[in-house]
Amino acid sequence: MGFASIILAVLVAAPLWATAASDLSTQIRGAKLDSTRCYRVRDLDFIREDLKIYLNDGYLIFAQPVAGLPFAAVFSSEVEGGDGEVLVTPPRRSERRSLATFADSPTLNTHFKTAMFLFTDNIARELQNRAAAQGPPSPEMGLLLAERYSPTVHNIAQGFELRLMMDLLNDNPARGFFYATIASVTLGTVDLVYDPTSHDQIVIGQYSTANGRPLFDVWTSFSSRSARAAGLNPVEADRDPYELTNFRIDATVGTDLNLTAVTKVTARLKEPNVRALAFEISGQMEVDEARIDGQPAEIFRRESARESAFRPGENTIFLAVPSQALSSAQPHETEFRHHGKVIRTNDSKVFFVSSRANWYPNQGSGFANYELTFHYPMTLDLVTNGELISNTIEGDHRVTRRKTSAPIRFAGFNLGEYQCVERMRPNGFRLDVCGSRNLDPALRPRPTLPTIDAGLPPGVVAARRNSGMKSPMPPLTPDPLSRLAKLAAMIEDGFEFMTARFGPPPVKSLTVTPIPGGFGQGFPGLIYLATASYLDPGDLPQTVRDAGLASFYSDLLAAHELAHQWWGNLVTAQSYKDNWLQESLANYTALLYLEKRKGPRAVTAVLDEYRKHLLAKGTDGNPVESAGPVTFGTRLASSRTPEAWQIITYEKGSWILHMLRGEMGDAQFSKLLAEVPKRFIRRPLSTDDFRLLAAEFIPPKSRDPKLEAFFENWVYTTGIPSLKLNASVKGTRLNGTLTQSGVAKDFEIDVPIEVSSIKGVAPVTYWLRSSSDPVEFSLVVPAGSTKAQIGGALLQSK
Ligand SMILES: [Zn+2]
Repeated sequence: MGFASIILAVLVAAPLWATAASDLSTQIRGAKLDSTRCYRVRDLDFIREDLKIYLNDGYLIFAQPVAGLPFAAVFSSEVEGGDGEVLVTPPRRSERRSLATFADSPTLNTHFKTAMFLFTDNIARELQNRAAAQGPPSPEMGLLLAERYSPTVHNIAQGFELRLMMDLLNDNPARGFFYATIASVTLGTVDLVYDPTSHDQIVIGQYSTANGRPLFDVWTSFSSRSARAAGLNPVEADRDPYELTNFRIDATVGTDLNLTAVTKVTARLKEPNVRALAFEISGQMEVDEARIDGQPAEIFRRESARESAFRPGENTIFLAVPSQALSSAQPHETEFRHHGKVIRTNDSKVFFVSSRANWYPNQGSGFANYELTFHYPMTLDLVTNGELISNTIEGDHRVTRRKTSAPIRFAGFNLGEYQCVERMRPNGFRLDVCGSRNLDPALRPRPTLPTIDAGLPPGVVAARRNSGMKSPMPPLTPDPLSRLAKLAAMIEDGFEFMTARFGPPPVKSLTVTPIPGGFGQGFPGLIYLATASYLDPGDLPQTVRDAGLASFYSDLLAAHELAHQWWGNLVTAQSYKDNWLQESLANYTALLYLEKRKGPRAVTAVLDEYRKHLLAKGTDGNPVESAGPVTFGTRLASSRTPEAWQIITYEKGSWILHMLRGEMGDAQFSKLLAEVPKRFIRRPLSTDDFRLLAAEFIPPKSRDPKLEAFFENWVYTTGIPSLKLNASVKGTRLNGTLTQSGVAKDFEIDVPIEVSSIKGVAPVTYWLRSSSDPVEFSLVVPAGSTKAQIGGALLQSK
């Protein structure tokens, strides 16, 4: 530590360490622009990694310091010829393309009249010193600007309050962030962020709305210059300042369905002096008390009732602030008391746990062991992760204790009035498939027209419907348990199928439980399965069948969620850019299992549907697939293409794996899938890790031995080519031309050409590399070959 920073530490630390979090919050909320710190600036340019900002001519005014730091500033070009400018060039072609779709240019180069900056890194002081060096302050202009822009600073700082507080309390500028929001002359308000603690340190985008909901459109997002130069391993968990291990949760579900819990967890710090620990928890949970090493800790949570109302199922962040700094030399015991309504029900007693958010305080998604105890009413069944330790009755309620046999990433629970089918599997593995005794009201049949209408022209049916004609027979209400034994048998069989291929699942006990809402979720050892998957396809509401979702619920969803035991819970994603792999592997596993049950044609039919969805026109008028590469993850769900994320992640992702299987053949593809959990057990898998591993299974003498071309064209960029094959057999020669269109000039893929001969003999596959110029070829084929066609690839048409 240098001399200057010692002084700084003393100046900053002494008053701060006596300051409680709420006082700091009051200071941030009350901070105004300081009229005495307003400077006329010219050619004041500064660079934060890849962000280049030029304050060409104007005034720069700083906020009153909080904890010694001028944490905000505003630039205004209210002078003759006043101007500011920003220049950013994303390093990768895919990112430049993404930027171009939003900002009409592959580089961000725009002028602005005003800009607001927030910073907890060293740039604040540097900028203030450089501005002050250009001349004396301009207090008159300062008064004007302070009055005009202080409310804006107040609003924006509030949005970043927890992060500001955490950085100011922990006083570690190396983890500090820089944020700029500029009023661009041509692009409107643009936000730019540099955050060294993020996976992508640079993020540029704009606030927008989709379907009436606020949304941040990410225009581009990438590793910063220094992170790229250092070749930093971008594992998200490594960036967390601490690690949580050994959760012990004791929870009580009241008869009113309120959940009250005590969560204890051990925190191991990676940095020496930590004053604030951030945790995430569901917006529906109140945190009543926190203790660290037995001492009371202050809880600071931004008042966000309004925000929670908009996003009830999502997490909010709170800070736990101990009375003194925590050292990294020993682990720290943290304890929280919390309560809330995360369980909902309806008059049919079908229960719903807000599943997408944490019902207990957690941070990041590291692996940890869990001991879980639940007290709950006698009338209910409750299941959670881990192996059953005991199930007892204490007074007027039941008590269930479970403990995980191996570290997991999240704990969930589910409850209802269940009937369960229990299966013991080899090696002490236990499988429970539970169904609700009560029918999900969403699956109640609506009155429909009598079946006699089936053969009538649609116009007649519509006319009858409009005339209010009702079925003379009340519809039969399906029994939600009638398919339970069948479902349990399928899950057991699927479990067997996957265990044989991918090895043992993460924990020794797996429970499948119903959830209303048409989706599924796979926690380690606990699966939420849509109530629709419990019904026979024929008993599903007409609307579900009309939407073509019957086979999704009855054939695919259970296997998809089951496959997440391996893909997502045993092998994890390195970052949002790699998450597609977990979803695609789960989905393609479900397709492999479908192939086993119903044959390859059933899979082809599903893939054909996926192709249609990918080629259909999206909200922006372009084919859905063109929204961006599969590696963009949730960024694809932008205001321009809100539907693209789901279709590209699950459906193009499945196609990518299907084509990869074609490249290496069935046997090698099976070996590849078996190898992934072996090499990446409880480890994050990146897209490039997967490419390198897959390349080991590519047959020798392949034209793309490292799969670079395959990944470049199908994974890292967009485009579905249109291919035309013109070929004829002459003796033992197949001569022809392969013509490609509809994609970028440099798009080249390996195309499977299936040459068939007499009936009953399997076709032989040859591979041709496509190109923007027509490819002429002459291949030696077996005698008796009759015709050639393009095999299974994601194409516009054949
Ligand atoms: Zn999934």
